[in-house]
Amino acid sequence: MVVMKFGGSSVGDAEKIRNVCAIVKSKLKAKPIVVLSAVKGITDKLIDTAEKAANDDDVSKELEEIKKKHHSILKELGLNENLVDVQLQEYGKVVDKIFEMKKINPELMDEVQSFGERMSVRILAGCLNKDGIKAKAFDAFDIGMITTPDYGKAEPLPDTEEKIKEFLKKVKEIPVITGFIGKDSAGNITTLGRGGSDYTAAIIGAAMNDTTEIWTDVNGIMTSDPRVVKDAKTIDQISFGEASELAYFGARVLHPKTIWPAVKKNLPVKVLNSFEPSNKGTTIVNKAGKSKEAIKAIACKKNIALVNVSSTRMLLAHGFLSRLFSVFEDYKKSVDMIATSEVSVSLTVDNANDIDKIKEDLEGVAEIKVEKNKSIVCVVGEGMHNSKGIVARVFETLKDIRIEMISAGASEINISFIVDTKDADKAVQVLHKKFFS
Ligand code: ADP
Ligand code: ASP
Ligand code: MG
Repeated sequence: MVVMKFGGSSVGDAEKIRNVCAIVKSKLKAKPIVVLSAVKGITDKLIDTAEKAANDDDVSKELEEIKKKHHSILKELGLNENLVDVQLQEYGKVVDKIFEMKKINPELMDEVQSFGERMSVRILAGCLNKDGIKAKAFDAFDIGMITTPDYGKAEPLPDTEEKIKEFLKKVKEIPVITGFIGKDSAGNITTLGRGGSDYTAAIIGAAMNDTTEIWTDVNGIMTSDPRVVKDAKTIDQISFGEASELAYFGARVLHPKTIWPAVKKNLPVKVLNSFEPSNKGTTIVNKAGKSKEAIKAIACKKNIALVNVSSTRMLLAHGFLSRLFSVFEDYKKSVDMIATSEVSVSLTVDNANDIDKIKEDLEGVAEIKVEKNKSIVCVVGEGMHNSKGIVARVFETLKDIRIEMISAGASEINISFIVDTKDADKAVQVLHKKFFS
């Protein structure tokens, strides 16, 4: 068996959905299990519409656009236009509820986002069936994807994989399963976080002890984001550790948690291009082959916030750091990078949300200054820790760019630093030129 996940970019319109059908068809011998994202742009649209409703704005145009997009795909594919009407109506009811409440709570926000995948799977299964391939659409929560109630970042419960395995063993058709969503034990819909369909696929891959294939719109994991670096090259093989660092530090091609289920069972994950299916893409394995360069790839996470904490008492006094981090923990803010000096601690977080509350909680203990519009640039490669002079070469290349905070050596395979977002692309480009051209 093989788990094949197709992202939103691979299911943007009717023609692309036909292309996905053809790829699945070419893999029938391997008994594919398909995991699908929402039609490109739909998740954003569902969120925007809900936010407008919470604001009491008219959303009839938005609702019509969502309906029209799906209906026109169905029509072009020669399928019944009513195929997703149950989901469209249910979404309409959720929007009505938001109008009444005049706000969206986290549970409702996850339910809002669930409809994209719930519609796309029905379309693809319809398309496959029309093509003579017996397929069946499933909402992940109906096949065992039960999660924690951490809305927006839910985690599968420990027995999820077992449940999924038991369920899928009995399915005769090709399952087409919603990525990204689940339900908590109370029956509320949850999401695994934006881009989370990759994670769903890896969870199902681990459940079935199979290879997971992430089908996207580029030829695998590349030496940099090809939208930023025109001559970025595909990496044939990359280790779990390297892929994990890249994904965590901004390489959107893979959701950062995708690697976890695969590492646990040592299963390969492949990243492939649905617009060039013959390209062999990237294989992520436990131990990757040696590359010529110590550096494998460069990633960038944009628009993060840099938080500078200075102590009003003595900073490194016993217990200060634990007090500091317990406040971040209270607001579930995860910290990506950290540097300390005698009088201050600098750290980075994804966004400045809740920082005002954190400031209040730390009043009298520490002063906090926040700088927005910063980016983390991250250079990754397992060969780095054995190569002399790499750090010097990296920073020598960047001598014209202001660098604020550096972290090297924490994982032996990554050097990261902070720049102003306006300099981020340039930093990635000059580094790429230096190490890969
Ligand atoms: P999907 O819709 O298939 O989930 P995404 O848009 O989430 O696709 O991810 C694919 C995109 O990730 C690519 O189009 C590319 O711009 C971006 N990307 C960022 N870093 C990398 C990288 N190192 N290698 C390949 N793609 C990358
Ligand atoms: N549709 C969801 C998103 O846009 C999940 C995914 O595509 O992986 O974030
Ligand atoms: Mg994605």
